[in-house]
Amino acid sequence: MSDFNIINTSGVSKNEFSLTVISGKGGTGKTTITASLAHLVDKEIVKADCDVDASNLGIILEGETIEQSKYVGAKVALIDQAMCDQCGGCKDVCRYDAVDIVNSKYIVNNLKCEGCNACVVNCHLDAIKLIKEVTGDVIKKDTKVGKLVTSKMIPGAEGSGKLVTEVRRVGKTENTETLIDGSPGIGCAVMASVTGSNHSLIVTEPTQSGFEDMKRVYEIVANFDSIPLAVINKYDINEEVAIKIEKECERLGIKIVGKIPFDTTVNEAVNNLRPVIEYKDSKAAIAINEMYQNILKVIEGE
Ligand code: SF4
Ligand code: SF4
Repeated sequence: MSDFNIINTSGVSKNEFSLTVISGKGGTGKTTITASLAHLVDKEIVKADCDVDASNLGIILEGETIEQSKYVGAKVALIDQAMCDQCGGCKDVCRYDAVDIVNSKYIVNNLKCEGCNACVVNCHLDAIKLIKEVTGDVIKKDTKVGKLVTSKMIPGAEGSGKLVTEVRRVGKTENTETLIDGSPGIGCAVMASVTGSNHSLIVTEPTQSGFEDMKRVYEIVANFDSIPLAVINKYDINEEVAIKIEKECERLGIKIVGKIPFDTTVNEAVNNLRPVIEYKDSKAAIAINEMYQNILKVIEGE
């Protein structure tokens, strides 16, 4: 457990379905597992795709867009060229190297500007102001398995954590019971994904890097009031490391809810943009089904 204070979740009762699926890095099967869970949950919940840098859940769950809105997630500086005397003060004060000189004019590079306001307060002619910038779209969809909130981030836009928060917020306003495909990694977007979820499902793989990533992402979850669960994907490709992961999970108090065997059907499902759970007799589908039953037992407090 880290030294940070535990962060409380918001207004979700303990037995409600409120689960975020995360992983220490991309490519562990997180979205494949989330899509299958979306098909298995037999009550009305909202699905939210908080993997905003690679929003693929909506592609697998399909469905139609019912609402789309712009999300203003950042502010950037804008220089009024008519007021500017080209003194260069803004370029000197900018720690992000976001002010360029183009044809003798001082121009802010939106892709580098962090909206820190330093140039605004330092401009002796008040020639700079911060303006709002759209960083993406928030999209509501109707799918075969219920409502989905997803997003489309503008390439190069800053503030993925804020967009994650907005996707999660919109999802929670539709229904407090949610299944979230969280952001991979260990950055602020992961924290934003886990916030407000009763349970966090860590997807890991039996490799040394998978083992280390699992521990790192657990450090994030441990700061939240979210019960950590884990699933070992392709556990049989290296049973020795899989056992090591199980022991570490036991030590950290993470409940293993599933062990999914390597199964070529998963690749077939991914190539066909289908959730593997549709391949009912496959080894992976059977294991994911068992995992879902174990998650339900945890949620129901058995
Ligand atoms: S500090 Fe103000 S006046 Fe000076 S170059 Fe920048 S915008 Fe122009
Ligand atoms: S707002 Fe901050 S980051 Fe943006 S140009 Fe001004 S000083 Fe640089």
